[in-house]
Amino acid sequence: MMARMKKSVHDLRSSDLSGKTVFLRADLNVPLKDGLILDDSRITEALPTIQYLKKSGAKLVLASHLARPNGEVVDALRLTPIQKRLSELLDMDVQKTDDCIGESVKQSVSSLQSGDVLLLENIRFYKEETENDTQFAKQLADLADIFVLDAFGTAHRAHASTVGIASFLPAYSGLLLTKELTFLSTAIKEPKLPFMAIVGGSKVSTKLPVLQSLLDVVDFLYIGGGMVFTFMKAQGFSVGTSLVESEHIETAARFLEHAAKSKTEVLFPHDHLIADSFSNDALTSVVDNDSFPDTMMGLDIGPKSLEFLCHRLQDMKMVLWNGPVGVFELSNFAKGTMGIAEALASNDCISIVGGGDSVSAIKQAGVSDGITHISTGGGASLELLEGKDLPGISVLLDKE
Ligand code: AMP
Repeated sequence: MMARMKKSVHDLRSSDLSGKTVFLRADLNVPLKDGLILDDSRITEALPTIQYLKKSGAKLVLASHLARPNGEVVDALRLTPIQKRLSELLDMDVQKTDDCIGESVKQSVSSLQSGDVLLLENIRFYKEETENDTQFAKQLADLADIFVLDAFGTAHRAHASTVGIASFLPAYSGLLLTKELTFLSTAIKEPKLPFMAIVGGSKVSTKLPVLQSLLDVVDFLYIGGGMVFTFMKAQGFSVGTSLVESEHIETAARFLEHAAKSKTEVLFPHDHLIADSFSNDALTSVVDNDSFPDTMMGLDIGPKSLEFLCHRLQDMKMVLWNGPVGVFELSNFAKGTMGIAEALASNDCISIVGGGDSVSAIKQAGVSDGITHISTGGGASLELLEGKDLPGISVLLDKE
């Protein structure tokens, strides 16, 4: 758990910022299709820190990754669409470099005036970024006087622009990061009970550590999504052609034994919407756990399960949701996930939603206003709630 509060840009005086060059690592990793931004939330969420630093007279060097170019220059993943949108939102001419290190970048930085914003090229065009290479981090740090981290979504990764750079510059938290930390740390320190976590998604293998650490933290743990079927297998049920990770059946069984001894009640769906293929055109029906046909797969929780879950949610004071409980990308299998989004938004409880899929379900359902805290980092928010130290946060300066 985070031991100390971290210094934010608000702890810097105007005189500390005026005329200084600030390297701001934001998360501008927006979804793109054919060069068009499908959802600019990540850019709008980064604006308060950008505007604050601009107003304080800093020269801004803004860095972000976009998608996964895997250490290579991919033209379709250049930050040009982000530069355009930022220019519109800030009502100014945001400049952009074609690289993120090197002589030409240094020159562009040296000609910045107070209040200017210079966007660097996709930081993940260099494999050194995700490798947290010291030389690369030093080259980034050489561009600025102060480092500000506002990319909560990548704060759980030790990369050069989130962690390495902080060895060379005084490191502060941005306003978005501070908001996430304040909200989530309070939720850990003073959870409102009863507290339920709903964890969905496809794979037991990736979610098991999270499920483990939520035991004893929450009163109820509802498990949904594709991973349910590995747990059902572990309990001896037939699951037809549903997604099963055979190599994890044993681990799932051990988790269930462990859970039975914990103070947490673990809940599973008891009926399923099943289909004869992974498609919106599939033939579908609803079955209980004990009557799964051999040739069908479970693609969403069933209506009884949704009703049961919504009913339970009414008694909760705090709910954490991460991961869809069905293949919600296919409209015929989105009912469970959308139903949770709507139920959460209409409840009085403190609701915390993280993870790209759950957040997009909330947006699709048009119920964002009913959610207490929509986290910009799925993995990062879970790791914080698990009580882990996030590398990107550990390196920020502590408040005295
Ligand atoms: P994850 O990346 O592990 O959070 O999983 C998210 C994915 O799980 C989404 O793309 C969903 O389509 C998928 N998913 C949810 N329920 C199921 C299911 N019953 N069978 C297969 N995939 C599922």
